[in-house]
Amino acid sequence: MSTPDTLSTAALTADDFAHATTSMLGLMRDLYPMCRSITGPGTRSTLARIGRTIPLQLTEVPTGTPVFDWAVPREWSIEDAYLEHESGRRFAEFQRSNLHVVSYSVPVDTVMPLSALRERLHTLPQHPNWIPWRSSYYRDDWGFCLSENERAAMPDGQYRAVIRSRLQDGSLSLAEFVHRGETDEEVLLFAHTCHPSLCNDNLSGIAVATQVATWLAGRRTRYTYRVLFAPATIGSITWLALNQARLARVRHGLVLAMLGDGSALKYHRTKSGGSAIDRAAECALRGAQAAATMLDFSPWGFDERQFNMPGFRLAVGRLTRALPGSYPEEHTSADTMDVIEPASLQSAWLAVLRIFEVLEGDRRYLNLAPHGEPQLGRRGLYRQSGGHYDNVPERHLALLWLLQFSDGEHSLLDIAERSGLDFGLLASCASDLQRAALLAPVPAPAPAQD
Ligand code: ZN
Repeated sequence: MSTPDTLSTAALTADDFAHATTSMLGLMRDLYPMCRSITGPGTRSTLARIGRTIPLQLTEVPTGTPVFDWAVPREWSIEDAYLEHESGRRFAEFQRSNLHVVSYSVPVDTVMPLSALRERLHTLPQHPNWIPWRSSYYRDDWGFCLSENERAAMPDGQYRAVIRSRLQDGSLSLAEFVHRGETDEEVLLFAHTCHPSLCNDNLSGIAVATQVATWLAGRRTRYTYRVLFAPATIGSITWLALNQARLARVRHGLVLAMLGDGSALKYHRTKSGGSAIDRAAECALRGAQAAATMLDFSPWGFDERQFNMPGFRLAVGRLTRALPGSYPEEHTSADTMDVIEPASLQSAWLAVLRIFEVLEGDRRYLNLAPHGEPQLGRRGLYRQSGGHYDNVPERHLALLWLLQFSDGEHSLLDIAERSGLDFGLLASCASDLQRAALLAPVPAPAPAQD
């Protein structure tokens, strides 16, 4: 096991990785059957299951609560739904898949011919075995989703369409895991919780966020970490509305979404493109274990859209794999555990930890022997004893970079960017130099903010 109070990812063992992956997959399997939506019992049971892994603070925000240009909607719940042909044969049965009913469908019990029903049936002709996922959150409507093959098998005649749902005053559920650090400055992680039986979008984000929280628990950190589980869009807007007075504390943020598929890891920058979290991500994710492609901010993204809006200007980036619209299984019944690659979940988890490692470790040092290079050999810093140093040339290089640039102005992140050296290596060498009384941390906090 890694030492509980260190944020160094170098200390992670093969056991740590295996345990993290098993626990993320287990959580996803448990959550998969639940009928999540932007509100309702399926979302609440999801939060309850996450709450068995990490402690959560729950907030129920009543229907009608004004949140900026929106209002918290009525709560939606559903017991059953199906289409029953006059022969008694049933189609699009909710009990077989919760994707069969358009999310937020109003209650219905009506009879109509197939010709009239057709406009309420959604299929994916290009993938005739898959059921699409559709929603109608902000417009009273109803409909069914089914595979093209199932629709083709529906005989002509009369159908009874039954949706046993309820739309009534209730609440929207938000959940937060908070890890208190030495300061009130916060790092925000966000995962959306509103998709029903769909794995990559959104269970992978939930699983990685939960596993990051597990890793943070019990460790000493400089920042306070807040992991927020909420429905997309209305959830982040609601949280922002309720927490306006404390938003100034949020220094960095990361939205986690679509992290389990086999495509390359990607980091979407914040709107400014040069925020500390962008720099930390770029520096942390160039290693082979969790390498990511860097992409610019787009106003057509996930919930980082809300956090970056001009009214908030929070530096929130996004870690993701498949881009919206780029994987055919997105928002269909094919987004199952089969899409999920354990190695993808694992490296996404590591990627978040590596970003946090940089945010936590970034500080400035002062060279206490700045008049020429100090004699490192005399202090045992150049000597390789019993394989103590795994990579001597890089380590020597790191010591020289640190001594040269520890002028009180350059932070470790600055030095990592300029040298191309691994941040963890520089941080570890800085500790060695500090122990040898050659470096002292500058008391002021590192330039970790924009
Ligand atoms: Zn989605």
